[in-house]
Amino acid sequence: MFPGRRAAAQGQHTGLLWQVLLVVPPVILLSAVALYSLRQDRAAIEQDARRTAALLAPDLARRLGARADAALGAVIAESCAAPAAPAISSSTAPPERADTPVCGLIVMGRVRVPADYPALPAPPAWVASRAAEPLRLNEEWHAIRSTAQRGSSAATVEKLFDFARRAEGVESESGAPLSDLAFLLALRHTPVGGLSGGQVRDLEQHVFQRPSFLSGSLIEEASRLLPANPTAERMAARWAAREQALAILRSPQVADAVAPTAVWVDAGTTTWLALAHPIATAGAPSGSVPRSAQHVTVLPLQTIERILQSASEADDVPAYASVAVTIAGRTLRRKQPIAASAPPTELASSTGLIDPPLMLPSDAVAGFAGELLRIAPDAMPLQQSPSSGVVRLVGVPGGQAFTLRLELADPDALYASYRRRLWLAAGLVLAATLAALGGLAGAWRAYERQRRLGEMKSSFVASVSHELRAPVAAVRLMTESLERGTVMDEGRRQEYLRLIGQECRRLSSLVENVLDFSRIDRGSREYTFEPSDLDALAASTVELMKPYASERQVTLICAAVAAGHKAGLRRVDRQAIQQALVNLIDNAVKHSPAGATVSVELASEAGEARFTVADSGPGIPAGDRERIFEPFYRRGSELRRETPGIGIGLTIAKHIAEAHGGRITVDSSPGTGSRFTIVLPIAEEPAP
Ligand code: ADP
Repeated sequence: MFPGRRAAAQGQHTGLLWQVLLVVPPVILLSAVALYSLRQDRAAIEQDARRTAALLAPDLARRLGARADAALGAVIAESCAAPAAPAISSSTAPPERADTPVCGLIVMGRVRVPADYPALPAPPAWVASRAAEPLRLNEEWHAIRSTAQRGSSAATVEKLFDFARRAEGVESESGAPLSDLAFLLALRHTPVGGLSGGQVRDLEQHVFQRPSFLSGSLIEEASRLLPANPTAERMAARWAAREQALAILRSPQVADAVAPTAVWVDAGTTTWLALAHPIATAGAPSGSVPRSAQHVTVLPLQTIERILQSASEADDVPAYASVAVTIAGRTLRRKQPIAASAPPTELASSTGLIDPPLMLPSDAVAGFAGELLRIAPDAMPLQQSPSSGVVRLVGVPGGQAFTLRLELADPDALYASYRRRLWLAAGLVLAATLAALGGLAGAWRAYERQRRLGEMKSSFVASVSHELRAPVAAVRLMTESLERGTVMDEGRRQEYLRLIGQECRRLSSLVENVLDFSRIDRGSREYTFEPSDLDALAASTVELMKPYASERQVTLICAAVAAGHKAGLRRVDRQAIQQALVNLIDNAVKHSPAGATVSVELASEAGEARFTVADSGPGIPAGDRERIFEPFYRRGSELRRETPGIGIGLTIAKHIAEAHGGRITVDSSPGTGSRFTIVLPIAEEPAP
């Protein structure tokens, strides 16, 4: 390799390296910047969501409090006004619906319920004092009971009912209420359907005025005797509600509350929220111990959930957020976070207040006040409000605080726009990377092409020098011999002169090819089209090449074609076509073994003239059939040495064919020879 060529190759190498350096780092940088800004984007989205939530949460908490107040007020007013739910006069009234609140219980000091009763009986005081009346009634009870045990009759049952009424308020030696014992025995001896409506009403009054641990059994017996009786059913329902209210009010958190307290209590089949407000009582009679009272509002869980639902269905809660409200340690959610396993991400929180208006319709007040006065006569915190006709409870302190939290419930919804940008950025980075890789591949291909071309050019120069040297040396030798006069024989002299002429023709053909190629390469090859007899042209070219063929012991023939297929007179560049044919014949002869035949044929068909040069040489493999027309391409290094040539013969032939609007084709298979055809689409030239 020449030093200049090495420098050029090195220059190409450096150029490629620069291209890589200019393309790869920017792509990496672009990807890094895109990733970084997407991370920032995600953080900004989260920050934005938190900011929105922080603005929204206090407003939402305020609205929730207001709506809860309104809803609670409505529920309280409705349940208090409903005639079927005399909740005002007694806390033990049966709730109309599952979510009807039990409202308005005020008791002194500790929370107590009207007519509470001990869970277990204890020996009464008369046992020690031996008071006369209880003793007498107990003796009577024993007598009646043994009569009833001997056999029941209508008279016995009547006696038992009568005794029960008389023994009100008296207990047995063990502490059980005598009247309840008698009622129970009477009911057990009464046949089904044998209980009168009056007796049931008596029983109801008794049970609710003097409840005891036997009340449940009494109600059960009455229900058994009077199936599907509305009075019996109402009594049973009232009792169940009363027991439920007791369970709530007996819970220590409610009973012992000294500050406003909210507490969840499981009672019956429902969970209740008990809102207990201790009330500083006013107007206690002088001399009495100052006492406080509790006001307890009890609401079922379903009611709270409904309020939360309606209050947090605000339009301005973003789709990705969920509202969670914590009250008295229990968290209620409007909708569950999608990722149920992971703790929900808190966006913002705010506290609010549920401060339900405690309005009681005035017509219900009488019974309620009566009840209250009976329990705590000096703690009656009621005030008449003349304008509205409702009674307001005075001294009830502020409402219950709750915490409202906005949580990230649906990250997919929050990051939807981010995801779109992520895909877009990923697409752009991918496109940029692919474009860069494509560019690099192109640069690599160009580099490789340049390198190959460089190699081919250098081998071209070597081939040309080689091709020139042999004939020039032969011509010089023969000319010198002739000059010196050493060749005496006239025949030899003539032979020398013929050989000198032949070598010169070959040299000029070679030089012509090189010059032609240089013109083609520069784009300055010109053609002169003139009417020419193609058949004569083919024949003369064959004649021209015959000495060369015979020198190589190859028979060159011009194959005859039928008269109808003669090409005749056409407008072509005669010299150029001859040059193309010479190149094809030269190749065919060069690659044919000694003794082989090369045929040249010219036929005209369908407006096309076809020059075909066929040989029986080694043929050309399919992979090379395209490339042999490339400039400087010569097959196989060994072949290069065996067959002379410089690799531009076919390039020139192809260019000439195409300049005539035609083409050159090769039909060959290794081992069977090759057929090169120049196809010229030419119109018939009118005869001169
Ligand atoms: P060259 O000067 O090498 O002959 P060409 O452009 O004429 O250059 O041909 C290119 C290559 O095509 C040759 O090197 C040779 O390998 C192949 N070739 C051309 N003609 C024939 C043929 N008739 N038989 C076999 N190989 C051929």
